[in-house]
Amino acid sequence: MSYTSASEAKQAILEAGRRLYQRAYVAANDGNISARMDDGTVWATPTGVSKGFMTEDMLVRLAPDGTVLEGTWKVSSEIAMHLAVYRENPALGGIVHAHSPAATAFATLGRDFDMAISLETAVQLGVIPCAPYAVTGSAELAERAAVYCREYNGCFLEHHGAVTWGADVLQALFRTECLEHTVIMYEHMLGLGEVRLLTQAQLTELDSVRKKFGITTGGRPKGRPDTKHD
Ligand SMILES: [Zn+2]
Repeated sequence: MSYTSASEAKQAILEAGRRLYQRAYVAANDGNISARMDDGTVWATPTGVSKGFMTEDMLVRLAPDGTVLEGTWKVSSEIAMHLAVYRENPALGGIVHAHSPAATAFATLGRDFDMAISLETAVQLGVIPCAPYAVTGSAELAERAAVYCREYNGCFLEHHGAVTWGADVLQALFRTECLEHTVIMYEHMLGLGEVRLLTQAQLTELDSVRKKFGITTGGRPKGRPDTKHD
């Protein structure tokens, strides 16, 4: 889905920014958010401003190639990653990039999160891959993230943070929230001394739940073998 109304797209970005900041998913001026319009242009957040305190006049409208069409604020170099993702997957309407603490900590490991630790994780996210490190704002980083945007719901950025996408900004935001929540739960499980995954039979059952919700991306995370007790 893409936005037909510019004011709806801009309000969605401002609201996502407030929620990211309130939840401490971004520090200082970190993070960026974008929304794609039905004409292919993209509304994006500016650099150098807290995403919790943005106003509509700060947002910038870009052509798919990054040319500035509207707005006077300087756009973040990380928006190149958003434009690469939109180019790769025309079905997407919103992207959220944050440095939420648990997901960013996991991103330092440089590996995918592919464990079915909870029902919500398995249904809403599936597997979250990790894009190998590249410096912020670079074409390499943009391409390394974009490669996942057709098959997955987001990815970690090694030693940096995470990015999630969806049909609109709200869905992208919810995926950022679900990812952070998933990694926090995983940390708690490590504290409990056991990371116990859903069984294969439970995951197969959840495949039909995903289908019912229209979720076709994310793949199937690892589960544990079925036992006679499950
Ligand atoms: Zn970043």
